[in-house]
This record gives sequence, C-alpha cells and structure tokens, in this order.
Amino acid sequence: MLNIAIIGAGPAGIEAASILAGKHHITLFEKSEKTLSNIHDKALLFPDFSSAEDLAARLDAKLKNPNIELRLNTPIVKLEKKDNGWLLTDDKQQEYNFPYVLLATGYRVFDAHQKEELGYGIYKGVITSLELEKMIKEEHIVNVNGDKPKQITFLQCVGSRDEKSGNHYCSKVCCVTAVKQAIEIKKMLPDTDVYVFYMDLRMWGQGFEEMYRTAQEEYGVNFVRGRISEAASTYDNRVQIKAEDTLMGLPLNLNTDLLVLMVGMCASDGTKQLSQSAGIDGLYGFAQSKSEHLEDNMTAQEGLFVAGACKRPSSVNDTIQDARAAAVNMMNFIQE
Ligand code: SF4
Repeated sequence: MLNIAIIGAGPAGIEAASILAGKHHITLFEKSEKTLSNIHDKALLFPDFSSAEDLAARLDAKLKNPNIELRLNTPIVKLEKKDNGWLLTDDKQQEYNFPYVLLATGYRVFDAHQKEELGYGIYKGVITSLELEKMIKEEHIVNVNGDKPKQITFLQCVGSRDEKSGNHYCSKVCCVTAVKQAIEIKKMLPDTDVYVFYMDLRMWGQGFEEMYRTAQEEYGVNFVRGRISEAASTYDNRVQIKAEDTLMGLPLNLNTDLLVLMVGMCASDGTKQLSQSAGIDGLYGFAQSKSEHLEDNMTAQEGLFVAGACKRPSSVNDTIQDARAAAVNMMNFIQE
C-alpha cells in the first residue's frame, strides 16, 4: 500500500480517491471548509435535470473509506519535485512528502467585473449564471424590485471566445447551461419572456440538441444570434441593452429585468499556482497533460497526474469519467 496525495476534493478528486483507496492510502487535501463547492452551487444538472445535491451526497458517501484521509481547510500552495517524489507545502508552511500526486484542483468562473461595459457589479439587474442558479435552487427568481420578472435575457460567451478578456477558448458548458436554466425559468415562471443571445450554440453532448429544441418548441425560449455591446440601468431598475442581431444585421435596443452573464470556466488560482510550481503549466493557466490522446492523465513530470477541469473546461459528467481514467492510469503506472 502506497501513500498518494490528491489535491482538490471536487468530483474529480473524490471519484479518483474512492477508486485508488481500494489499494492505497489516500490523503485528500481540500482548500475550503467543505467538499464539492462547485456542485453545491448548482440546482439541477444537465442534460437529465437530476439533483446536484443528490450527486454531492453520493460522492461524499464514497469518502467513508478508512483508506481516505480528508484534510479540509488545507490549501496546498506549493508542489515541488524532489529526488524521492513530491513535496507539498500548505499555507501554514507544513510540508508533506508523497511518491505520487493527483492534481484535481478544478476551475473558477470568469470574473464578470472585467467586462465593465456589461455593467456587472454596477447595475443590480446584471447577474451571473451562478447567481441565477442560486435563485433557481431557492425557487425564488425575482427582479431587482423583488417582483416576478417580465423578461430575462441571457448573454453567452462572457469571458470565453473573447479577445478582450484574453480567453480565446470555448468554455464548453455554458451553452447547455443557459438552455437548462432557460427551461427551468419557464417551468417556474411560464409568463416570463426568455431571450438567449449567442454567437453560435455548441450543443455537443448526448441529449443537448434535444434540450435546445425542447426549449424552443415546448417552452418558447427565444434564441437570438447576436452580441450585446452595452448595458445600462433604467429609471425603474431594469436593464437597458444595446445589441445587434447578427443574422438580420439589425441593431436592437431592449429592456430586460435581469441580464444573465454566462460566465466561462477559467483555471482556478490553485491550478495556476501548483501547475507552475510543478512545471506543468499550460495554456491560460490550466494544467498541461502529457498528451491529450493516450496520456491525458499523465504529465511531463513523473509521479504527477492530472484529472478533471484543472486541464481544461469540462462538464461534471466528463470530470467524473476523467477521474476514473486517472485512477486506473495511476494504478497501472504504480504496478509497473
Ligand atoms: S459553451 Fe457556448 S457560451 Fe460557452 S464559451 Fe462555448 S460557445 Fe460560448
């Protein structure tokens, strides 16, 4: 039995820990006071509208294994290769040695304050997809005045595919998340008009295209191919939007109760910091795997493995599958 460190108690870290714990002792480091923060932030998951809390409970149950030692409130701030393996240092300068490490430090969402022209943090009616998710979870979707919104407008690709913010990549999950949230709004508030402004919709997964059709045909969600260039506040706390319908080539001005910014996925601070100190930093601060085809859970550094959204934007499902692959990969490597 070997000692393995896993950094990050999100879906990737927990799933990999539960498999590796069949043969090895796992120390699972988590920077915050609880596991699975990014799952607890969600109400329902796409594409099956299953409960995020149920998934969190099932994942947490996997931690009841005597071979898994969970260390909450322990941010690892440095990861260094040494002759005998890896040296981890936490924020209190305590050091830990492990022969093998799995990095599963996940992502953070794009900080919408950077898009000043969209008014996030200035106008109360401009919110992020995460804040809308909280409203959906609490079944309390209201406008700034606390009333039922007449109209809700989504804007895709905020902080992704965007020259200005420096993130040229697609965040992969925000198109389907917007469609999911639009349906959830229409289920709760059938009289609220919902508009989604998109560059192009990337419905790549099984069941996603069907969700998109359902949103249009069953729930009457309006999809507009276009860009919103500017947002401002109206006298009655609504949001005034200047936009362009790029299919029709027409400028649009409209007022909405809530403008929802679909914020993309970025490398988390932990991912950036540890990838750099371990020498596996890749594009946009994400961790770089050895090869995306056959060695996507390995890195250029021996004994250091990667799983989930610390490598690139990834859905919850894909993250869990990737963690399983990482665990098998590590077991094979250790046996060799
Ligand atoms: S998934 Fe959709 S909204 Fe998100 S960055 Fe890609 S195209 Fe834009």
